[in-house]
Amino acid sequence: MSKLPNCPKCNSEYTYEDGTLLICPECAYEWTAGSESESDELVVKDSNGNVLQDGDSVTVIKDLKVKGASSAIKKGTKVKNIRLVDGDHNIDCKIDGFGAMSLKSEFVKKA
Ligand SMILES: [Zn+2]
Repeated sequence: MSKLPNCPKCNSEYTYEDGTLLICPECAYEWTAGSESESDELVVKDSNGNVLQDGDSVTVIKDLKVKGASSAIKKGTKVKNIRLVDGDHNIDCKIDGFGAMSLKSEFVKKA
């Protein structure tokens, strides 16, 4: 887990995330994170909103058609050792029977 910033209003350290918002439970202040030093950091989230990291294993949550392949990647396919990249298809990985692939993080969940 990455450490969340303290509340900019009351400096409480008990802040928590809700989607893209950061919320302070002590003074109820809400703000958006990431405008400061973390703006360059690549954050890739799965279909459940869990943050993915390089080397994670994920499960495909729907059948995915593959350009140039005769079959689709089946729902439930496990993908090991993913690598996060910038872009529309933000996961690089290798899938048995398909080879090197790019996936969208919205179609996987953390295993
Ligand atoms: Zn506060």
